[in-house]
Amino acid sequence: MALIEHIIGGESTSGSSGKTQDIFNPATGEAVGQVILGATAEIDAAVQAAKNVLPLWSNTSPAKRAAVMFAMRGVMTRRADEIARTISAEHGKTHDDALGEVARALEVVEYACGIPDKLKGDFSRDVGPGIDTCAERQPLGVVAGITPFNFPSMVPLWMIPMALACGNTFVLKPSERDPSSANLIFDMFREAGLPDGVLNVVHGGKDAVDAIIAHKDIQAISFVGSTPIAHYIYSNGCAAGKRVQALGGAKNHMIILPDADIDQAADALMGAGFGSAGERCMAISVAVPVGNETADRLIEKLVPRVEALKIGPSDDPDAEMGPVITKDAKDRIEGMISAGETEGAEVLVDGRGFSLQGYEGGFWVGGTLLDRVTENMTVYQQEIFGPVLSVLRSDSYDYAVDLINKHQYGNGTAIFTRDGDAARDFANRIQVGMVGINVPIPVPVGYHSFGGWKQSIFGAHGIYGPEAIHFYTRLKTVTSRWPTGIRSGAEFTFPSMG
Ligand code: NAD
Repeated sequence: MALIEHIIGGESTSGSSGKTQDIFNPATGEAVGQVILGATAEIDAAVQAAKNVLPLWSNTSPAKRAAVMFAMRGVMTRRADEIARTISAEHGKTHDDALGEVARALEVVEYACGIPDKLKGDFSRDVGPGIDTCAERQPLGVVAGITPFNFPSMVPLWMIPMALACGNTFVLKPSERDPSSANLIFDMFREAGLPDGVLNVVHGGKDAVDAIIAHKDIQAISFVGSTPIAHYIYSNGCAAGKRVQALGGAKNHMIILPDADIDQAADALMGAGFGSAGERCMAISVAVPVGNETADRLIEKLVPRVEALKIGPSDDPDAEMGPVITKDAKDRIEGMISAGETEGAEVLVDGRGFSLQGYEGGFWVGGTLLDRVTENMTVYQQEIFGPVLSVLRSDSYDYAVDLINKHQYGNGTAIFTRDGDAARDFANRIQVGMVGINVPIPVPVGYHSFGGWKQSIFGAHGIYGPEAIHFYTRLKTVTSRWPTGIRSGAEFTFPSMG
C-alpha cells in the first residue's frame, strides 16, 4: 500500500507525529494507501524550509520566476494524463472530468507566466521639487494553502502558481482524503526547476491546520473548503494577525424562465447537477423553473435522463459520474434525501441504495431528483454536495430572484432564458459572486478571478487572476528626493511636496 509522506525542503519525510489515515478507492471501498498526518513539528519544519529559501526566491527576478511557470506549463501538459489518473484513483471522478480539472488548473499557471508585466508597479516623477514616488508590490513571505478533497489538483493550483510567481514561498496542507495529487504537483514543480523549499507539502487534518493558524511566520492563508471550516480559519487566522481568504460552501440555483429552450436547460442541469457526482462547489443543486407549466416540461425531460445516468468507475469511458468520496459522505447524502422526503419533497428518482455490479463495496449514490422542494426544507437550506437535484417551483421571476438573494450562500448561479432584459436584470440584482447567463457553471477563466458572496467567502479577495496579485503581495510606496544636495532647513509642518 502506498504511504503518502510530507515533502519538506525538497525531501520526503514521515515526520514525527506517528499518525496515519487510510486512503480509499471510492469505487471499490478498499483502502489503497495511507497518508501521514502531520502536526506542529511538521508545520514548523516546513515553514523553516520555506523561510530559508525566501531571500533567494523573493529576489529572483520576476522573469526567472515566470520561466519556472512556463516550464511547469510544459510539464503539466505532458503529464496531464498521469495527473488525471492520480486524481481519479482517490477521488473517483471520471477520467475526462479529471482531465477537465487539469485544464482549468493550467489556466492559472499560464496567467502566472505573465507575472513580470503584472508586478510592474507605478511611478510618478516630480511629485515635489526633485521628488519622485514609486509604488511597488512586494511578496508577503511564507504563505499557506489549505485545500478540499473535491479538486485535489485544481484548487492547490488556484493558489500555488500566483503565490510563487509573486515571490512568496509556500506550505500546502491538502485534503487528507485524496492527498497524492499534492505530491505530484510538487514533483512537477521540481521538474520545472523550482528550488527546494519554495513549495512544501504537509499532510494532515485539524492538527496541521491549527499549527498553520498558530505559526507566527506564516503571513497569509488561502483556504477553500466548507463554510464552517472557512469561518473557523478566517476568524482565528485574522485574530492571529494573518491575511486570510477563505472560500466556503455553496447552494447554486438555476432559474429557468418560460421562454428558455427546455432541452438546452435540461442538458445544462444534467451536467451541472450530476457531473463529478455533484461534488463541485459550482454544481447546480436547485432548479427554479418559473411557472408550473415550465416545471412540468422540465421534469418530463429530466426524469428519464436522471434514471438513465451512466454511473461507473473512473476508468469506464462511458461513465458520466462516479462514486462519492467516502462512506460517510454516502451516508450523509442518503440521509439528506430521506430528510427531504420526510419534510414533503417528492422523490421522483431515488439514488439511495444504488449498487454497481462488481463494485458492491464502493461509495455509490445514484442520481436523485426531488420535486416540490420548498424554502424551509433542510434539503434546500443546506449544501448536500452529492448527486441530488432539487426542483423548487416558483410562481414568478421576482420570487425566484428573492429566493436566491435570501439564501445564506452566494457562490454561483445561472439563468436560462431568451429574454435579454430579464438576463440583464438578473445579472444586476442577484446577490451572488459568479453569474451565468445560459451558462450553468460560470467558473471564471484563469485571467479573471473566482469568488462567491455571503457565506461562500470570508475575506476581501477572490482567488487566482488579478485578485491573487493583491492577496499575495503588499503595497510599498517609496518617495525619494534627488539630488540629495537640496537643503531647505528643518520643516515642522506636514510635508506638502510643494
Ligand atoms: P472541508 O471543509 O471538510 O475540508 C477542507 C480542508 O479543511 C481540508 O484540508 C481539511 O483537512 C480541513 N479541515 C477539515 N476539518 C477541519 C477542522 N475541524 N479544523 C481545521 N481544518 C479542518 O471540505 P471538503 O469536504 O474537503 O470539501 C468540500 C467543501 O468545500 C464543500 O463545502 C464545497 O462547497 C467546498 N468548496 C468550495 C469551493 C469554493 O471555491 N468556494 C471550492 C471547492 C470546494
